[in-house]
Amino acid sequence: MICRNCGESLNDSSVIDKVKYFVCSSCGEVIEVDLNIKQLGFNILHRKESKGIHESYSADFTIDGKSLLTTLVTKADGHRDFLGCFAKGWDNLNKHSLKQLLLQQPPETESGRSLIYVCPECADIGCGAYGCKISKVGEEYIWSQFAYENGYEEPQPIRDIDPFVFTATEYENLVNRAFAL
Ligand SMILES: [Zn+2]
Ligand SMILES: [Zn+2]
Repeated sequence: MICRNCGESLNDSSVIDKVKYFVCSSCGEVIEVDLNIKQLGFNILHRKESKGIHESYSADFTIDGKSLLTTLVTKADGHRDFLGCFAKGWDNLNKHSLKQLLLQQPPETESGRSLIYVCPECADIGCGAYGCKISKVGEEYIWSQFAYENGYEEPQPIRDIDPFVFTATEYENLVNRAFAL
């Protein structure tokens, strides 16, 4: 776990009531990780065709059944016209996302985030995207530090989204299913 404030790596933690607390020894930042395993799923996000708008079908991830895109755009107060990082017919994007989400390839963003929702026209980060840091600890994957970023400005962290913890086998199955969309 990395301190979201100063980037120091955090090793010491204590668990109280199923919540793991990391305290940064450099800056005092406290990071809470809810150890209750979340259920990752996805719904199909259909972008309807109209003038100048390309139709697409992509994966909107769900956390315990709730749309992650809805959660992000609500908290960031932004528009919701995005493409999930797995989308029908977007072969290069899909292959890239698979490697990112299964940690087979390091993220190419400066921030170290993997992109989960991208521009529905070109998938370029320059148009703005939502991403998060993905790590694997033991038999669990963790999604944390969600942010909106465009590659040329400071990422805008999405506040009050706790890290999500997923069971590795369930996570890998789900990601492979989304890839096969
Ligand atoms: Zn710190
Ligand atoms: Zn674009």
